[in-house]
Amino acid sequence: MRRLPVFFVLDCSESMAGENLQKMEECLQAVVRTLRADPHALESVYVSVIAFAGAVRTIAPLVEVVSFYPPKLPLGSGTSLGAALDALMSEIDRSVVKTTADAKGDWKPIIYLITDGHPTDNPGPAIERWNAKYARKTNLIAIGLGKNADFTVLKRLTENVIVYEESQEGDFQKFVKWISASVVAQSKSVGEGVESDTLPILDESVMRIIKEPPPVADESCVTLVGRCQKTRRPYLIKYEQAVQVVATRDFKLDVARYDLAGCYPLEEDYFNWSDQRATEFKVNTASLVGSPGCPHCGNITAFAMCGCGKLLCVNGPGVATCPWCQQQIEFAAAASDGFDVNRSRG
Ligand SMILES: [Zn+2]
Ligand SMILES: [Zn+2]
Repeated sequence: MRRLPVFFVLDCSESMAGENLQKMEECLQAVVRTLRADPHALESVYVSVIAFAGAVRTIAPLVEVVSFYPPKLPLGSGTSLGAALDALMSEIDRSVVKTTADAKGDWKPIIYLITDGHPTDNPGPAIERWNAKYARKTNLIAIGLGKNADFTVLKRLTENVIVYEESQEGDFQKFVKWISASVVAQSKSVGEGVESDTLPILDESVMRIIKEPPPVADESCVTLVGRCQKTRRPYLIKYEQAVQVVATRDFKLDVARYDLAGCYPLEEDYFNWSDQRATEFKVNTASLVGSPGCPHCGNITAFAMCGCGKLLCVNGPGVATCPWCQQQIEFAAAASDGFDVNRSRG
């Protein structure tokens, strides 16, 4: 029987921390639920998931929908799109059955590439290889979550570049419904023996095709990693950009300001998924508004910095032991001036 392989290539970089990552997990679960309930899909669809951050891995190998169990998505620093495409091409080579003179192989694989940011590696060579050898033999749909995805780079991969923007409750369900519907439609048409390259009609209230890539947006979030002093477990602090316009009669100035979006517990696995070059970037704390508590132990601030340059949680002034370098440090009452912290690459 000819299979219809569906690959989800998912951006699990830090800017996805919190709600977005959880939504992507829910999206996979909902899509699989729909596919299982559809006789055509049930018969032909096989699903695989490749996750990418600084590192890339196949977290769910290609299996039939009945046996597919939606994986927990990782989180890491970096957006290695080039490496993700390389992994996708290897996965296609390894698991998709090619048509030979004697036998029909699998149907054209469908790929959903979902990302919310900019590549932190150089995806150029992988994009060239993709276009030379894989583009015509697959249906790739690239979906940018929000305005900050790099639509220019996605456009180099496929004509099917879609932006999804959430504006109200229920939008995400529409988005998930569309993905499910597009897989079901394809499985139905291959069930009838024809392959179609056309996408089902988009729900224009939440998504649209990108024809001309918009100018590359500025970085929209800042993420910082710390460790809990008590439990030693890592956490991620996320700030989102808020444009503050300072205007007088004579001039107007946009000042970069980042508001606290949340502080999330991380797994130790985070470091395996991260790009090791992550600490070359600095941000001044004066542009960060809001300080979170520790998500592990409840200490009042997760935003204290050791002389080693790393963040830890403390419960006010006093002596603390750094969970990174084990040094004893004394914290005085907070100074009002900003200091520089290492940020990761989002
Ligand atoms: Zn703590
Ligand atoms: Zn330290």
